[in-house]
Amino acid sequence: IFADLNVVAIEASGDDRAKTIPLAVAIPDALFEHDGQITKREIRAVTLSSLAPRRGELLWDIGAGSGSIAISWMLAHPSLHAVAIEAEAERAARIRRNARSLGVPGLDIVEGHAPEALAGLPQPDAVFVGGGGSRDGVMAITMERLRAGGRLVANAVTLEMEAVLLDLYARHGGELSRITVSRAAPVGGKSGWRPAMPVTQWTWSK
Ligand code: SAH
Repeated sequence: IFADLNVVAIEASGDDRAKTIPLAVAIPDALFEHDGQITKREIRAVTLSSLAPRRGELLWDIGAGSGSIAISWMLAHPSLHAVAIEAEAERAARIRRNARSLGVPGLDIVEGHAPEALAGLPQPDAVFVGGGGSRDGVMAITMERLRAGGRLVANAVTLEMEAVLLDLYARHGGELSRITVSRAAPVGGKSGWRPAMPVTQWTWSK
């Protein structure tokens, strides 16, 4: 038994089925510069836990937005590396600023559309799909390129992407969950729950 980035316990019998305990955490949204399209902290925490980083691994963050997932992945341990793939130039520039200001200037940023932008990237150990997943080929190519034993987490807020995830769940198994977060906010002189859009999350291990 040894402890590392995650606690990996290997039974003394020589059983090589290792148990990984994800220890990644989520920092507050306000620490990222963003335009509103950011995976909220509550959802980011669950996402990072499912991505379960292990020493030395590489993450693809597809549809990286503000870069919050890729940056959090790299902050979890200095041995971790990530590539943020983002279609919009303004957001790609914002990811660069966030990576610098949060102390992970080594984050790789690819400005372009998945799946084309995925060609030539090194094989990932984990992939997060936060955008672009309903485009033809994105999920298929991602699942094909993911290394055996790797983890895939995909979030859907649109019905189109949710339909893609329901189909993948039916064909490949994994875990499907629906997460809703509401935050207290001013309503007139009082307070009320302001719900964020529900997120359907599919998690799959290859
Ligand atoms: N997880 C991000 C938020 C993602 S919002 C965060 O926490 O900040 C979804 C993003 O996907 C948007 O920035 C959008 O520009 C991007 N996107 C949509 N389709 C894409 C595609 N085909 N390739 C790359 N990025 C894409």
